[in-house]
Amino acid sequence: MKQPLWLILFSILIFLGGVYSNGQTAKQEVEKWKVHDPDRPMPPVVDPGPAGNPVPAPSDAIILFDGKDLSQWTDGKGQPARWKVENGYMEVVAKTGAIRTKQNFGDCQLHVEWASPVLVKGEGQNLANSGVFLMNIYEVQVLDCYKNKTYADGMTAALYAQYPPMVNACRPPGEWQTYDIIFRRPRFDDKGQFISPAWVTVFHNNILVHNNAELIGPTTHKARPPYKAHPDRLPISLQDHGSPIRFRNIWIRELE
Ligand code: MG
Repeated sequence: MKQPLWLILFSILIFLGGVYSNGQTAKQEVEKWKVHDPDRPMPPVVDPGPAGNPVPAPSDAIILFDGKDLSQWTDGKGQPARWKVENGYMEVVAKTGAIRTKQNFGDCQLHVEWASPVLVKGEGQNLANSGVFLMNIYEVQVLDCYKNKTYADGMTAALYAQYPPMVNACRPPGEWQTYDIIFRRPRFDDKGQFISPAWVTVFHNNILVHNNAELIGPTTHKARPPYKAHPDRLPISLQDHGSPIRFRNIWIRELE
């Protein structure tokens, strides 16, 4: 039976519409906006409720920081980490550099608690900046964005330079906040050829802010470079961006 022309054209339009809305690659989605585009809309603010007690680590977790010492961490050169430890938390000591875990990790579930200084100093990216780096390469931004404006892809809980969080779930400065990160590392073959990207799910203060987001490469400042082959397991690192951010109760579950 011959279909009327209008029906054929209509079907083609519906098909193309489907390809456009569902077939978009992560790269196309990320590149809809320039890196750190000031016009990229900020996500809506959601009040996560008051801070709670430290979340107990499950029995199969590896404890990376229990508030007592930095024995699981080194500085960037493999020397003892020089951040301050007191009252059950560690605090960034400016200019001592990022710290990283002694142990290497690939796919994982990571729990981190952090707080920004009560004394609000600076603005934008200089207001209480740090970061949680999966594999020392892929950053979940730590920043005080409680009433602080910055570019959307660099705000609190952003997958830096790629995805803003779905909502702004910040607590006020000084209050403890949580990240629960589920990370699947990128895959490369024996020859270093790219096989599959990294996927990241993040809960900020128990609120879903990234739902299996596909990273298009390493997260860097003002650039979106492509993937470069790296080992299957690398350290978790915490950034020294000069702000006295505090961390406590860090634990990880290996997923591979
Ligand atoms: Mg940062």
